Amino acid sequence: MQERLQKILSQAGVASRRESEGIIAAGRVAVNGTVVTELGTKADPDTDTITLDGKPITIEEKRVYILLYKPVGYMTTMKDPEGRPIVSDLLKGVKERVYPIGRLDYNTEGLLLLTNDGALANSLMHPSHEVDKGYLVRVSGKVSELQIKKLSEGVKLEDGMTAPAKVTPVSESENNSWISITIHEGRYRQVRRMCEAVGLNVVRLKRARYDFLEIGDLKPGEYRHLAPEEVTRLN
Ligand code: URA
Repeated sequence: MQERLQKILSQAGVASRRESEGIIAAGRVAVNGTVVTELGTKADPDTDTITLDGKPITIEEKRVYILLYKPVGYMTTMKDPEGRPIVSDLLKGVKERVYPIGRLDYNTEGLLLLTNDGALANSLMHPSHEVDKGYLVRVSGKVSELQIKKLSEGVKLEDGMTAPAKVTPVSESENNSWISITIHEGRYRQVRRMCEAVGLNVVRLKRARYDFLEIGDLKPGEYRHLAPEEVTRLN
């Protein structure tokens, strides 16, 4: 978006807007290589190269951290070549360009974090970080103690054994059961594949927790911004 140069300079933290006017008038600012001294001049910080004393200036976008309840039927991507709904469709009120921290399958619902803070996203997604992710899994029929034991101890998948997980039964009815599975790995479709490996048919999968963050009272499609203390705790 085109903005007045003095506003761009002040947003970049160069100086106040008034001081920036003096800096522009002094011929220290150039747009795409051409020195600009006229005060009303506009430029687009996203597409123009703006320099001060020959050095490019950059505007730091405000950091945002969003906790979304991803509904079933949304892709955890920012574009989908097949035109399916994507999570950013749900973030109409968010101006900043945010990216998901990890993924949930199209058919998985629940807690998804999104941010434009690349450093935090990379650090949380790094395997060494071992962030706990808590899932509620609804499966057909009943779950045996042996199945719980196998899931807890680790099961053999085609990409190797899974790490021990915290697995507890939650409830059981005639046709379905809910179990809770907490893992810190993040392999492709891991929870579904673990359940399949012990003979359980997953009918619903919901991520309820990411580290200390919980989905709480959010409804599918709703989101909230993290509080500053929560961002500090995640770091
Ligand atoms: N495990 C899965 O199988 N799917 C997800 O979306 C997340 C974890």
